[in-house]
Amino acid sequence: MSSRARFPVDLNKSGSSVRLGNPMGGVSPSVKPATVVGGLRSSSASGRTAHAAHDPVALRLGMVAKLKAGGISDALVLQAMAITERHSFVDTGLANQAYEDTSLPIGLGQTISKPNVVARMIELLRAGKPGLLGRVLEIGTGCGYQAAVLSQLATEVYSIERLRGLHERAQDNLRPFRLPNVHLLFGDGMAGFAKGAPYAGIIAAAGGNALPSAWLDQLAVGGRLVAPMVTDTGQQALVVVDKTQQGLQHSVLEAVHFVPLKSGLG
Ligand code: SAH
Repeated sequence: MSSRARFPVDLNKSGSSVRLGNPMGGVSPSVKPATVVGGLRSSSASGRTAHAAHDPVALRLGMVAKLKAGGISDALVLQAMAITERHSFVDTGLANQAYEDTSLPIGLGQTISKPNVVARMIELLRAGKPGLLGRVLEIGTGCGYQAAVLSQLATEVYSIERLRGLHERAQDNLRPFRLPNVHLLFGDGMAGFAKGAPYAGIIAAAGGNALPSAWLDQLAVGGRLVAPMVTDTGQQALVVVDKTQQGLQHSVLEAVHFVPLKSGLG
């Protein structure tokens, strides 16, 4: 990298209209949701997954079929997962595991979340609303995979990472995909990113003992926050907060295992 990241980083100064580039030969970004999900069904029905071991597209569609079977029903989330190349976000040595439902190391002691956790959290974030979400804030860019998925489901994605090595890695990973609506930020996500607020959605990939007040302040009325948090039982669980005209509504959902939310930079 010849130049340091600016704040926020615009990954595509040329403003290409391509929503998801395709340097590794994945599914065309122009396919409609029905085509992707329909293709998924016909692909497995026709037995074409027999070649999956050599074909990232087949592996990815197999992953999406499992997400569907496991209860993810939002067609837009499934489409975004079907066209986002998870194998491009992990080390080459781990690429053959990229479409298994497993978290994988991404360096500096951090992990890329399991596909079903990514899908579940984004499905919750979307709350079944039609069309794209507005501006979304992600805390914990990591390798940039979830930001790439979110880029297809939100008008703008602001994603913050506190570890410079991972922030730069995410920049490198995302650059070939030319996603003009993804803005990578190097900073402490506990403070949110006030300049992009208010957010239609806030999603965290790291969990603390409480939700930072900045996140709640920066959430739009009508917006939703989805984050792991250590609850009263001492276990980490997914927490959903809806900001309504009447105030904040909290729900505590299933147990999860995320890396800790840490303050400061590293
Ligand atoms: N969504 C990521 C998952 C990364 S793991 C992906 O797709 O790869 C969670 C990330 O949260 C880690 O990279 C960790 O460094 C980061 N993190 C933890 N505390 C943070 C904070 N206060 N601000 C920003 N990032 C944080």
